[in-house]
Amino acid sequence: MTKDSYAIALLPGDGIGPEVTQAAAAILADAAARHGLALAFTPYEAGAGTYRQTGEAISAETVRAVGEADAILLGAMGLPAVRYPDGTEIAPQIDLREQFGLFASLRPCRLFPGVPSRVRAERVDMLIVRELTEGLFAGRHDPAEPSDERASDRLTITRATSEKLFDLAFAQARLRRRQGAPGRVTLLDKANVLRSNAFLRRLFDEAAARHPDIASERLYIDAGAMMLVTDPERFDVVVTENMFGDIASEIAAGVVGGLGVAPSGDVSESRGLFQPSHGTAPDIAGRGIANPVAAILSAAMLLDWLGQQHGDERCDAAAAAIRAATGAVLAAGPRTRDLGGTAGTEEVTRAIRAALAAPALAA
Ligand code: NAD
Repeated sequence: MTKDSYAIALLPGDGIGPEVTQAAAAILADAAARHGLALAFTPYEAGAGTYRQTGEAISAETVRAVGEADAILLGAMGLPAVRYPDGTEIAPQIDLREQFGLFASLRPCRLFPGVPSRVRAERVDMLIVRELTEGLFAGRHDPAEPSDERASDRLTITRATSEKLFDLAFAQARLRRRQGAPGRVTLLDKANVLRSNAFLRRLFDEAAARHPDIASERLYIDAGAMMLVTDPERFDVVVTENMFGDIASEIAAGVVGGLGVAPSGDVSESRGLFQPSHGTAPDIAGRGIANPVAAILSAAMLLDWLGQQHGDERCDAAAAAIRAATGAVLAAGPRTRDLGGTAGTEEVTRAIRAALAAPALAA
């Protein structure tokens, strides 16, 4: 059901997170106002900086409050120098996936006109669907082995999560087909070696049979990873387990211009957390040169998702306007340095806001 006002929780995080979140929130607010939508933003503290100050990466109260929002917009979290005693980085964004059951990460990788790609391709437009709560991340909290000689990580595939994941991937292919995509889902797995992945492939085949209107194929991850680079135009929706998806989505992001233009949305049936695919980029943080496009396209995905959850066409229209304005600026410039330009975060953000206000896009 549509709402008078949607509550958006902002988690800017660390490094360039606050810089790109500020840009994305400004554009969300502009697009919402132009389409008669009210968004109420509330910022929350979490991340490596919060851990350094308080000893806790995200408080229980923040998790509760963020969980009550209609959608979450996150910058990026973590800093290489800030670690737990076991040597791993603080990563509350991963804890949130587990706490909110965000089982799928949607990672569209589209080559926009004007964005330089290192591969020879013209029409790359794929959606990587990465499983987010199990796979090779399932054993994250397993007790360490009592030895200084060995370490293992568990790879778990469950029927319940895989069925939800595959049904979502086929549903996304159906949605994309309405916009001209071929309507095909590709599974990337290692079913030739790993029993967990043979099971995953069986569950995928069952899902393909439930969705006979959508084409399906299965590739081994090693061959599929190569094809993401050598023949990226062949892919529509790609679905895979957690770790393979982590890597495959960054390969695909690299093909379409890099992390600066790669958005993502982590979803369950009822919750959605949207964030750029990149991290906190400590090497460029605080210099005003981060590319805000990935965060801005993530904000458009947030609106898509609100539109689907609430049947609210104003959200769909606002999302389309953000994508069109961003595409126009990527094509004509200004562009940030990662895309070969010279502009800073603010200049690009201003240009996208101006494009949003331009009469051709304002409808
Ligand atoms: P990164 O994505 O932060 O940076 C990789 C490279 O891409 C860097 O050279 C960086 O300058 C560049 N880059 C990234 N985003 C950019 C942008 N918007 N504009 C221009 N250039 C950009 O990955 P990393 O260096 O491996 O990780 C840095 C920190 O971020 C680590 O602490 C890591 O744990 C954390 N991290 C967090 C998330 C998240 O919050 N979801 C994801 C990945 C990494």
